[in-house]
Amino acid sequence: LDPTNEGYSREEVDIEKALRPLSFEDFAGQDQVLENLKVFVQAANLRGEALDHTLFHGPPGLGKTTLANILANELGVNIKITSGPVLDKPGDLAGLLTNLDERDVLFIDEIHRLSPIVEEYLYSAMEDYRIDIMIETGPNARTVQIDLAPFTLVGATTRSGLLTAPMRARFGISSRLQYYTTELLTTIVQRSSSILGVPISMEAAIEIAGRSRGTPRIANALLRRVRDFAQIKGNGSIDIKIAKYSLEALHVDAHGLDEMDNKILATIIDKFKGGPVGLTTLATAVSESAETIEEVYEPFLIQQGFIMRTPRGREVTEDAYKHLGRVKGPVQGG
Ligand code: ADP
Repeated sequence: LDPTNEGYSREEVDIEKALRPLSFEDFAGQDQVLENLKVFVQAANLRGEALDHTLFHGPPGLGKTTLANILANELGVNIKITSGPVLDKPGDLAGLLTNLDERDVLFIDEIHRLSPIVEEYLYSAMEDYRIDIMIETGPNARTVQIDLAPFTLVGATTRSGLLTAPMRARFGISSRLQYYTTELLTTIVQRSSSILGVPISMEAAIEIAGRSRGTPRIANALLRRVRDFAQIKGNGSIDIKIAKYSLEALHVDAHGLDEMDNKILATIIDKFKGGPVGLTTLATAVSESAETIEEVYEPFLIQQGFIMRTPRGREVTEDAYKHLGRVKGPVQGG
């Protein structure tokens, strides 16, 4: 059972929605990002203008979608939600854009996955609130210009490196989200338990938080699974004993590292004698793209002190050997 997998049931999607903070007030952490956004939203509200186009980047599950919804709430406008891979025809984009009211938010998740032709359309929409639509074909083909209501595009991406330069340049606001500390995740777990109506001890909340890979989405997913154990195997409330028992049964790593995290560490140790190893070589060895390693996995492993970036490549630390229960062997010549 992988708490991070995408295959949530409908009920779980509903729970996920219930746990989502709706205002700046409810949103824990990302202090610097939040401080700035509050100012920009207040200013936009004061002037009655659309908020500048806003880009959120950072690893999955840190709150990009949540923040897009919060922005719409705080601006007092509607939000339309779509994603890069879904928006594959310019016509679909035109339909969305022409249905926006003044100051509305259009949220595009995975914005680095837009097709070039859709991206092209988006440029003029973002810059001049205008799109050119081609009508008819053949000798009668002509373009018609359609004016749009001033709107805010909120884009989210886990792979900011894959965003084209012209796209990036069109965002007036750009914020990188950081991993959460165990302390912050503890407050998120406590808040979620109270929404779910499950009593939880402080110790248990800390235990779940500490194994959540710095990620609120994982913290909430683990909490839901632990709640199941508490209801079936315990008395319904979550104490440290049932928390530890469940996390053990779920094979959740003590640091919350997932399978790929551990594979990366084990590969550097076993195949490259602990490193240094170049990013592309490592990527080939673990069968993952270099960009995903660099933008999704590595930041957490570095933050946790398991990997170091050196000029000659990636190296694991002593802690990585300890974590995997390996003994650091003598460095062999050749
Ligand atoms: P992303 O879009 O970055 O992948 P989401 O915004 O979907 O992440 O967040 C995943 C879940 O984590 C949300 O449903 C929400 O319940 C929770 N979450 C994210 N950030 C926070 C936060 N700062 N405080 C409380 N819950 C959060």
